[in-house]
Amino acid sequence: MQGLMQDWPLLVHTILDHARDWHGDREIVSRTVEGPIHRYTYRDLDRRARQIASASARRLGLTEGDVVATMAWNGYRHMEIWYGLMGLGAVVHTLNPRLFADQLDYIVNHAEDQWIFLDTTFVPVLEAVRERIPRVKGFIVMTDKAHMPAETSLPNVICYEDLIAEGDSGFAWPKLDENTACGMCYTSGTTGNPKGVVYTHRSNVLHAMATCAADALALSSRDTIMPVVPMFHANAWSTAFSAPMAGANMVMPGAQMDGASIYELLDREHVTLTAAVPTVWLMLLQYLGQNKDLKLNALERVVIGGAACPEAMMKAFEKDYDTTVIHAWGMTEMSPLGSLGTRKGGLEDMAPDAWWQTKLKQGRPAFTVEMKIADDEGTDLPNDGKTFGRLKVRGPAIAHSYFKGEGAEAFDAEGWFDTGDVATIDENGYMQITDRSKDVIKSGGEWISSIDLENVAVGCPGVAEAAAIGMPHPKWDERPMLVIVKEGGADVSKDQILAHLDGKIAKWWTPDDVVFTDSIPHTATGKISKLELRQQFKDHKLPTI
Ligand code: ADP
Repeated sequence: MQGLMQDWPLLVHTILDHARDWHGDREIVSRTVEGPIHRYTYRDLDRRARQIASASARRLGLTEGDVVATMAWNGYRHMEIWYGLMGLGAVVHTLNPRLFADQLDYIVNHAEDQWIFLDTTFVPVLEAVRERIPRVKGFIVMTDKAHMPAETSLPNVICYEDLIAEGDSGFAWPKLDENTACGMCYTSGTTGNPKGVVYTHRSNVLHAMATCAADALALSSRDTIMPVVPMFHANAWSTAFSAPMAGANMVMPGAQMDGASIYELLDREHVTLTAAVPTVWLMLLQYLGQNKDLKLNALERVVIGGAACPEAMMKAFEKDYDTTVIHAWGMTEMSPLGSLGTRKGGLEDMAPDAWWQTKLKQGRPAFTVEMKIADDEGTDLPNDGKTFGRLKVRGPAIAHSYFKGEGAEAFDAEGWFDTGDVATIDENGYMQITDRSKDVIKSGGEWISSIDLENVAVGCPGVAEAAAIGMPHPKWDERPMLVIVKEGGADVSKDQILAHLDGKIAKWWTPDDVVFTDSIPHTATGKISKLELRQQFKDHKLPTI
């Protein structure tokens, strides 16, 4: 028997319709790349999104299924392009400006981007690759006439404000199927070429609803949210959708992510919730440390993800600044949020120490995410908090394949996506990442977590950054080696580091060698590039004991 409820396709523009009708006065505050702070409301966003949609259809010839790229910071114009072009049925492909030039042209060509919308700051980045992206029809610079670059080698350049002025604010959104593609984001490709993840209207709407839930971000119309995480990094963790859905004010930091600039916006705009990777929070905490009289008065919760939240960071926010940390894990392929570390009902009486250890884990799955761990043969492993295995997920906001069918080996016949992470899941459902599957160190058939080794090593005085990699070994297959960057001026030795590890890790996890280097290579999303590091040390010989 069929149900008798209305068929209301889950389209991204319905989020904006709701924000306009019921939270029309809530604001989007943007720090622009041109300098001044810009303020307007969801009502204005709705109007201008329709204008850019109609102008793009008319002048750029955009229609359903066309892929258009953006290279832009978080700001109101970027929001207009997302809602306008997605509403039109086009696919908005966010480009990460930190990508290396050869990755950038690969991605633009692979995605078949037709036009690129860009902030003025990124004109040189695209000029550098323009000859290698011949199929791009033109470039729309996201500024007004007064701030257009005087000269550029980019062909067919259009001023955004000129384009939008031609648009119709009464433009009616076409009726689309909810499974129509609307967004595209490439994973940074620590192995092989970057792969395209293609979001649908339905996946974005469902994911935003799951994100707003009380046990996730508890996002409401009483919040002011500042996504520091860029819109080009995994959907800005859904905030561009979840904030208007909830009717929360948005604060967009633009290009300035240093501690002082972030603090200024948090304080002046009374931000209650913010989200970013640990690197950003390190800069903020350093700034606060240098300015002891500053407090985080309005800030209630800070979402930390993308990489593991160090214990010292969680402690600083919670104990020194009375701000709740929500440790979150996710992936571009998952829209991206997969798990969040909020306290579960029934755990109210957990001893403080035990709760603290649980809170440091990567959290428990949000609704719409199924999660399990399995061994290399695909056999499910127990949720006992000790056994670690390959982390697998499935759900309606998780990719079922990559663009053009690449990387098919990550998806199995039952729909499980192998995340490439290695994790434990405890009795209460809290998952802990212990490694990425390609980074886990396999010694004598047992797995050693490179992340655990790194976490303990960075706790050693004098160590600024640590990376653990598996080195080939004739007997054990692989043995761990630590690569260390010393803090400026510190003089820490191999023996001191090994003494620091002693007792904090299993004896057989003790690295066979500790080497020092000036810097550790990072990927475009700021993670340690183990691939490069292994390459760098491929001829290094472990000492024989
Ligand atoms: P990429 O995989 O291209 O680097 P993503 O942003 O999609 O880019 O990164 C997803 C990966 O980041 C996860 O698979 C995981 O390894 C890591 N990650 C994300 N959040 C966390 C976290 N809270 N703790 C540890 N690792 C994390």
